[in-house]
Amino acid sequence: MSEASEEVYSSLRERFQGDLMLPGDAAYEASRGIWNGMFNRRPGLIARCADVSDVQSAIRAASSAGLLTAVRCGGHSLAGFSTCDGGMVLDLSRLRQVAVDPETRRARFAGGCLLGSVDTATQKAGLVFPSGVVSHTGAGGLVLGGGTGWLTRRFGLSCDSVVAFTLVTADGSLLRADAANNADLYWALRGGGGNFGVVTEFEVKLHPLSSLVLAEGLCPEHNIRRHLEFWREFMAEAPLDLKWNIDLRLAPHSKNVPPALRGRPVAGNSLVWTGDPSAGQSYLERALSLCNRDSVRSRVVPFLALQTMADSDFPHGRRYYTKSGYFSRLNDGTIATMIEAVSTIPSPQTQIELAYLGGAAGQVDARETAFGDRSAPFIMNLLANWAEPAEDAAHISWVRGLFARLRPAMKPGVYVNFMSGDEQDRVPEAYQERWERMLAVKSHFDPKNFFRMNQNVQPRKPD
Ligand SMILES: Cc1cc2nc3c(=O)[nH]c(=O)nc-3n(C[C@H](O)[C@H](O)[C@H](O)COP(=O)(O)OP(=O)(O)OC[C@H]3O[C@@H](n4cnc5c(N)ncnc54)[C@H](O)[C@@H]3O)c2cc1C
Repeated sequence: MSEASEEVYSSLRERFQGDLMLPGDAAYEASRGIWNGMFNRRPGLIARCADVSDVQSAIRAASSAGLLTAVRCGGHSLAGFSTCDGGMVLDLSRLRQVAVDPETRRARFAGGCLLGSVDTATQKAGLVFPSGVVSHTGAGGLVLGGGTGWLTRRFGLSCDSVVAFTLVTADGSLLRADAANNADLYWALRGGGGNFGVVTEFEVKLHPLSSLVLAEGLCPEHNIRRHLEFWREFMAEAPLDLKWNIDLRLAPHSKNVPPALRGRPVAGNSLVWTGDPSAGQSYLERALSLCNRDSVRSRVVPFLALQTMADSDFPHGRRYYTKSGYFSRLNDGTIATMIEAVSTIPSPQTQIELAYLGGAAGQVDARETAFGDRSAPFIMNLLANWAEPAEDAAHISWVRGLFARLRPAMKPGVYVNFMSGDEQDRVPEAYQERWERMLAVKSHFDPKNFFRMNQNVQPRKPD
């Protein structure tokens, strides 16, 4: 145990209401892991807070001892930011309360909530908070980075629905940030990640919705080029009610995949229609017209079923590596490069994820929030997913190689929540013309960069 973690532990021991875990304690091993198995780190202390005053005490103690601190909500940081070697993990997983007010269509949820806790509570009132697509993801990290999902085109990014944040800043103060109080901080927290403090409560707008149409289909290898060309034109005119995601990958050897497609390159399609089901039918049929007929299905599903359907595709503890970017247009050369890359994909779980944003998210002015440029509608995420440490190099180099080939056609910019830990040099690219304002807010609220386990905005050096 380092001197600094010992100092923090002794300072917290008497007053901390939550759990303090040290290496060697029974609960320590089970509590130190995060979702991405690439990060097998050993913190000096895990402080699982029971309430806001624990968060304040932990921050004050670690700041005074100069102890590196990683903040953890759902632990799904692809970049491994919610753990560290030797420092403190400030664990929010006991802070999972959600309060919904059906009258005002507002909710308040605590900073340690998973998406599933928020969805379950809001659905009891037939309401939704637009968030991500896997229910075991933390709402804390997802919302602070921006938050995209099935409802992004209809209701905007997750951060667009936040009306107020309550947070503990680096000096241990508890602040509210909304349109009227700390307005710069309110701006920065909508897309700026964990740079400014620990959010203990999000107050958000909710929207009415309890079921939707889900359509799926697999497009065979020989049709992928035409299919992507169709997608890029079709989405430019599509109504806000339609979200259409495509994954380029090798089809799994499973019984619901037509035998001729198994193990072959495919474009997997998932479409969600949030409007009147009969009005969506013709859009969904046209969208899936180049798919294998035996793979196509369409049904009305409850919102909670949609939100959990991908949970088992991304299990905890596997190894993941990602690189991401935007395209204003998906040109023919980009499509050809992606298709060629699928045949060399090193794992059946690895995929090129493509989404078309626009819609309500694209209608928000770029100056309104810290979240990056919203004008490029195509977002691509190269997500490698494998099990064996011995295969790290092969998977990482496949992602890096493909990214380098696609990069010249991309629009500069990146969504911070889809970045890897080796991309700190891209953080200014994520914010572009918003960078100076981010620096000013960071330098004011966290001048010593206490919160640095994130896509980090380094504060200005004092004059
Ligand atoms: C399986 C999976 C599915 C995903 N799906 C989507 C998706 O559909 N849409 C999407 O937009 N993104 C998605 N992501 C990316 C996701 O948004 C990020 O990985 C996000 O950081 C996860 O948040 P977390 O709280 O689980 O992570 P953590 O690892 O706990 O935290 C991530 C970062 O946020 C900070 N942080 C977390 N909570 C707080 C808080 N309360 N206050 C201050 N800082 C905090 C941490 O310090 C850290 O820097 C997905 C990721 C995974 C692994």
